[in-house]
Amino acid sequence: MQESDIREKFEELFGQLPDVIAAAPGRINLIGEHIDYSDGYVLPFAITSRTYAAVRKRSDRQVRIASVQRAKTVITVNLDDVRPGFKGQWERYVLGVLWALKIDQGVDVMIDGHVPLGAGLSSSAALECSVAIALNHLFSLGFDLKALARLAQMAENDFVGVPCGIMDQSVALMAKPGYALLLDCRDLTSRDVAFDLASSGLQLLIIDTQAHHSLIDGAYAQRRASCDSVVAKLGVQSMRELTLDRLEECKELITDNEFIRARHAVTEIARVLDAVRALESKGFVELGHLLNSSHISLRDDYEVSCPELNTAVDSAISAGALGARMVGAGFGGSAIALIKESQSQEIIRKIEISFESNGFKPPRFLTSLPSQGAQIIQPAR
Ligand code: ADP
Ligand code: MG
Repeated sequence: MQESDIREKFEELFGQLPDVIAAAPGRINLIGEHIDYSDGYVLPFAITSRTYAAVRKRSDRQVRIASVQRAKTVITVNLDDVRPGFKGQWERYVLGVLWALKIDQGVDVMIDGHVPLGAGLSSSAALECSVAIALNHLFSLGFDLKALARLAQMAENDFVGVPCGIMDQSVALMAKPGYALLLDCRDLTSRDVAFDLASSGLQLLIIDTQAHHSLIDGAYAQRRASCDSVVAKLGVQSMRELTLDRLEECKELITDNEFIRARHAVTEIARVLDAVRALESKGFVELGHLLNSSHISLRDDYEVSCPELNTAVDSAISAGALGARMVGAGFGGSAIALIKESQSQEIIRKIEISFESNGFKPPRFLTSLPSQGAQIIQPAR
């Protein structure tokens, strides 16, 4: 969809033009998986696919919300009913942002999301952040991007009820084209790291396995509990303070299962910093190796992969990718492969064939260069 389409669709549905149109991207975390809650680092970048939000002020306290992805059915809510505990569906992501930003005037909101929903590319943060930046602009709220990221996270945590970290909202708002965002989950400081794939003829292939295994919630809680237990038994603040040597020395104090979980956390934290060094020296072969090691660690030590993700990663590598790994919480969702642009079609074909021969649902593919964070596209009139 062209950016101008949402303007027309808004007018068609709500009878007037929007005051503002904003967009925010989905994201991929290049490396640093399952370590945000261990005081680790993450290295996400914005993908090209974005979610658009068009907003118009109203003169009453009604909020009307529609999404192209939800058949443009208009949901009408009174602002007085917008508080945590609100029973609803997807519109809670929009209402949560209105609540977090303390909006006190009715609005019409239309959403058009081009980030695949539920594929681990954070369509939820793209949605929240497109709405947040539009409202910040429209009501001249003056929040900076860091504050907006916290407010969008608050919307998802406290209004929608999803206990997500700050990564998705930070990158959706702050990403710069050609850069990844190194985010320190201990103190939430961040810095841009040049991630220029295009000039080296490279590309990130995103493989949406379309698999969603129901193990995820219980497994996530168990992984977190194992990390908490290791930290308590070894008397440290977080995995960040441990090294692999120290962990080996203390092996007797923890269970075998805790040891392998901790080994993932400790090695993954180190891999993020190695990946930053690789990017800074354009060492893409090294980056590929780090992606592979990350996948093996998530598969064998953290045990959060699944056959579809392993097939995507293994077939990408055997077809010539420099490296590949599962991304996100695991048990389904997407994988990424660092590939030569010229090999894209060939690698896609090989992955498709592997999926078919394993009897898996066909995967979907996206490619992306590191893109722009949230933007106002059409300012208030
Ligand atoms: P992810 O963030 O990985 O895509 P989530 O489950 O966190 O997956 O968020 C997906 C949910 O966000 C959807 O089920 C829906 O409720 C909401 N959502 C995201 N984008 C849109 C959209 N364009 N229109 C309607 N709802 C959306
Ligand atoms: Mg999400």
